[in-house]
Amino acid sequence: MKPLHERIAKHVSGLPRSGIRDFFELVVGRDDVISLGVGEPDFPAPWHIREAAIYSLEKGQTSYTSNLGLLSLRQEIADYVRKLFGVDYDPATEVLVTVGVSEALDLVFRSLLDPGDEVVYHEPCYVSYSPSIVLAHGVAVPVSTRVEDNFVLRAEDVEAAITARTRILLLNFPTNPTGAVEPLEELEKIAALAVEHDLIVVSDEIYCELLYGGPDGMEPGEHVSIASLPGMRERTVLLHGFSKAFAMTGFRLGYACAPPELTEAMMKIHQYSMLCAPIMSQQAAVEALRNGTPEVERMRRAYAQRRNLMLKRFADMGLPCFAPGGAFYMFPDIRRYGLTSKEFAMRLLERENVAVVPGNAFGPAGEGCVRACYATAYDKIEIAMDRMARFVKDLETGG
Ligand code: PMP
Repeated sequence: MKPLHERIAKHVSGLPRSGIRDFFELVVGRDDVISLGVGEPDFPAPWHIREAAIYSLEKGQTSYTSNLGLLSLRQEIADYVRKLFGVDYDPATEVLVTVGVSEALDLVFRSLLDPGDEVVYHEPCYVSYSPSIVLAHGVAVPVSTRVEDNFVLRAEDVEAAITARTRILLLNFPTNPTGAVEPLEELEKIAALAVEHDLIVVSDEIYCELLYGGPDGMEPGEHVSIASLPGMRERTVLLHGFSKAFAMTGFRLGYACAPPELTEAMMKIHQYSMLCAPIMSQQAAVEALRNGTPEVERMRRAYAQRRNLMLKRFADMGLPCFAPGGAFYMFPDIRRYGLTSKEFAMRLLERENVAVVPGNAFGPAGEGCVRACYATAYDKIEIAMDRMARFVKDLETGG
């Protein structure tokens, strides 16, 4: 019999395992470790949202929904997106409810890429981008952003990566893992490039409610979606979901908004692979969009306080880190210690029981940094920062 590992499709066997998961398997079950690792809110979903899911079950709503998702939810999504981004989508034909933004990413690549088509995206980036492109038989073309440049995506770098095979430009602002927010003038230049080269833009805006504006980062900043720029709505697939701002990761719910032809193509794959998103999650999401905004703001303010704490403590310990404009990540520069990001993270874990993610888990452009997630309780972050300060002081004194 042919060995089983030789039966795995080549494009699957060639995929690396997620660097985050590998690292966090070391941490599982260790209560002594403070984890600034996995990018997930430490808050449970707000109670009124959980209650909506419970009520849906109590009413016996345990069936499939329309493939596109409940119409009531699609209407709420269209209203929310109009308010947040100033872009209008028709709930009947331009909104598809998915199993997280994860599924939406998979659908968009599978529906738009022929084998060998290229997707340009910025790195360091969310771990699933390159594998999702490869699984759709596309070619991943990363463009590096740089710590010296506060991880701004430069239009000239995007332009240099575009070839005759480029079909999609994939953007993620605010960015996981850096927390970077793209300056408007650069976003406008990137939009102009998309028009010039006739590209579809896939914009993953899953962190867009989590912005830290004003002088002290406590004000809700203003998010500009590339879909709202002139000429962009017709060539953009806007991805958003409930995992981050509403702290609903386990509900597995996201959505794609796009012109009808693209929504229809994604829906075709979704109906055969997923059928629909879970109905109780969809009912909970209706409640989230109708009444959840004050809770989102409460959580955003808590993240802003934690962000400020980390920023101050990194500055005090001499660890260079730019002030991120969004999401819930810090991406400090650890190059001065002469260690790789993996060595730094491993030693920090071994010596001080603090878990951060090596920057190269987010692509080679992340090497030299580590990701610290501040979706963790304030007092735990305080302890983690004390431990980290001791750790870097030891490194400086040759320990
Ligand atoms: N996009 C980005 C940038 C993310 O950070 C994540 C989750 N970490 C996702 C998509 C996937 O989110 P979900 O499937 O839970 O909606």
